[in-house]
Amino acid sequence: MTHALELKAIRKSFGDVDVIHGIDLHMEDGEFVVFVGPSGCGKSTLLRLIAGLDDPTSGDIVLQGKRVNGVPASERGLSMVFQSYALYPHMTVRQNLSFGLENMRMPRAEIDRRVEDAARLLQIDPLLKRRPGQLSGGQRQRVAIGRAIVREPVIFLFDEPLSNLDAELRLQMRVEISDLHAKLGNTMIYVTHDQIEAMTMADRIVVLRAGRVEQVGKPLDLYNHPANRFVAGFIGAPQ
Ligand code: ADP
Ligand code: MG
Repeated sequence: MTHALELKAIRKSFGDVDVIHGIDLHMEDGEFVVFVGPSGCGKSTLLRLIAGLDDPTSGDIVLQGKRVNGVPASERGLSMVFQSYALYPHMTVRQNLSFGLENMRMPRAEIDRRVEDAARLLQIDPLLKRRPGQLSGGQRQRVAIGRAIVREPVIFLFDEPLSNLDAELRLQMRVEISDLHAKLGNTMIYVTHDQIEAMTMADRIVVLRAGRVEQVGKPLDLYNHPANRFVAGFIGAPQ
């Protein structure tokens, strides 16, 4: 059976510092997988390796049955949403959404269709003429998500997309991202250090600690049957 994504014995070192210590994981089509773990455990590094923004020191990354080590990010068919929205301040929302597609030399009509579909889906269609400085934090994050959607990726990668938002907005965006997953049905990998996001959003949770996988499972299984004290302390039931 072909997995949407397989990580095989992934290691990553920066100089002589080992950051990822041999990770094996697979994700299925349409799964919402959350990588959760404390700051510095290697979540962003792992996501960057999957995205193709960096290469593993050893191990294989296999996307839909094809080894993609060394394949540039732009050719992997993935979209990444970052914590900092990284919108272009001098461009309108429409231009921010179109820009990446224009670089791919996509026909205008196709660009407009994708931008308008994404804007409608995210309910930012009334904002297309505004610039990022004229948007609220939640609206900006929706534009950042829109920019990922218009690429029509096979897999979405989210790196702590809500950590700059206040608690109320975080709750609202959590629901919106889950709804988006239900509507689009793509495989999504969502990185967070927030246990509540992991518990409420994930089909499966991967608990990371210092570059290793501590446990993988459905939220309730981890909660009820944590493999060790670390998982218990992080997301499990109080012991
Ligand atoms: P997380 O996203 O879980 O907070 P990161 O993946 O950002 O963790 O970082 C994991 C570890 O790798 C940290 O100790 C960090 O300092 C180190 N690291 C990340 N990127 C680099 C880099 N480009 N060069 C050197 N060390 C790095
Ligand atoms: Mg990080």
